[in-house]
Amino acid sequence: MEPYTFTVQSAQAALQAGRLSSVDLTTSVLDRIYRVDNSVRAYLAVTPEVALEQAAEADKRRAEGDTSPLLGIPFALKDIVSTAGITTTCGSRMLAEYVPPYDATAYRRLRTAGAVLLGKTNMDEFAMGSSTENSAFFPTANPWDLSRVPGGSSGGSAAAVAADEALFAIGTDTGGSIRQPASLVGIVGLRPTYGRVSRYGLVAFGSSLDQIGPLTRTVTDAALVLGALAGYDALDSTSVDVPVPDYRRALSGDVRGLRVAVPREYFVDGMEPGVAAAVRAAIDGLASLGAEIGEVSLPHTEYALPTYYLIAPAEASANLARYDGVRFGLSAEQPIDVWDLFRRTRDEGFGSEVKRRIMLGTYALSAGYYDAYYRKAQQARTLIKRDFDRVFAEYDVVVAPTSPVAAFPLGARVDDPLQMYLADIFTLSVNLAGLCGMSVPCGFSDGLPVGLQIIGPAFGEAKLLQVGYAYEQATPWHTMKPSLTAAEVETAES
Ligand code: GLN
Repeated sequence: MEPYTFTVQSAQAALQAGRLSSVDLTTSVLDRIYRVDNSVRAYLAVTPEVALEQAAEADKRRAEGDTSPLLGIPFALKDIVSTAGITTTCGSRMLAEYVPPYDATAYRRLRTAGAVLLGKTNMDEFAMGSSTENSAFFPTANPWDLSRVPGGSSGGSAAAVAADEALFAIGTDTGGSIRQPASLVGIVGLRPTYGRVSRYGLVAFGSSLDQIGPLTRTVTDAALVLGALAGYDALDSTSVDVPVPDYRRALSGDVRGLRVAVPREYFVDGMEPGVAAAVRAAIDGLASLGAEIGEVSLPHTEYALPTYYLIAPAEASANLARYDGVRFGLSAEQPIDVWDLFRRTRDEGFGSEVKRRIMLGTYALSAGYYDAYYRKAQQARTLIKRDFDRVFAEYDVVVAPTSPVAAFPLGARVDDPLQMYLADIFTLSVNLAGLCGMSVPCGFSDGLPVGLQIIGPAFGEAKLLQVGYAYEQATPWHTMKPSLTAAEVETAES
């Protein structure tokens, strides 16, 4: 077996047994990147010198007796997480040459754990999108079918893991951007509860919604990476000071007697039949493992999309005001006055989706419209949260599809923002309600991966891992890989 195909867990065993060094492992993954990334285009920047230096350091730490679970494991980082000395573009022309002066806490924690940075991954500009086609640089392809999208906005991170170009990756999820791409490329993606992982150094999109989390090949790997990321950080006032459990203890494989809710509103007309069938079969699978399944209603589900698309753009319009040509990134040449500087910098630096969000958000917040839009949306957000509170009083987890469709063709939705927004219809509520959610592979629809979404109450990540692990152990989906053979890669290039 080639080392680049290892899970975090199996790589760790090989490293610990001395069968492999981190430098060998990292070299294997870098070679893989050089072989396939011309076609997949998961990375915006590969950092081989950084990777090999960090790998050598990890080997040294191991020789000194360190056995941390991520020690020496190479990973990819979404290009919205700040890395001192390494460009952090957010997929935007605005920050094409921006080099942060400090590390994000999430990156610092992974480094403390000994993980090895391979590079920064492609994404929709400022994480706004569901296909990675809003990147200012280039789209990323789905490793299962190079003519299709990998989902978004963490599409580069998801594709890197699916194509064996990283053992795990880090994404961010404001409305679904970890779970939806995980679903579309057939891997595990976990969005932690708001407050579980520090947002310090994460470039802000929707500050009340953003979270950083893992994209991995297995549920066990998600538990290991989350364990390294989670925890209180004095540098992020919204991070919550609750103890971090040892998430590995959740991996019992047992779901007998666990109460699983299936919300009626998440099986809708217009869903891809193959997706609905795979998810229904997965729910039957949980029942045969001994879980108790019950149908429930989350009656305010229909308001999630309009609510999210008021609140997220409102927060984005405020957060993106800082790109003024003075403080960060791009600065328009030879301005005639300060207004010309602001106007031209923002016109040249932002792509059309980002501009659309800024306009929507500014409108929703402006005097005279605030009550009708922003305030209404906040009220609807409370109702959506109460729906879940009611269900979690009686159930341990909620299960549903992650996405209503499997991966769609590149270009199919770029000119239709509403169609693109609908890709997140099943993931948005988790963010609005401050919950946690995970997507695990649960089959295929016409040869393309389908994800089962498991939703838990605030700080209920261990429950997600428990259910996800039991399901994974009983099914073959996580062992299946796209056949990204050299021949196919060449065809895709020609
Ligand atoms: N697709 C959603 C949006 O465009 C969610 C993005 C995200 O989670 N970052 O806003």
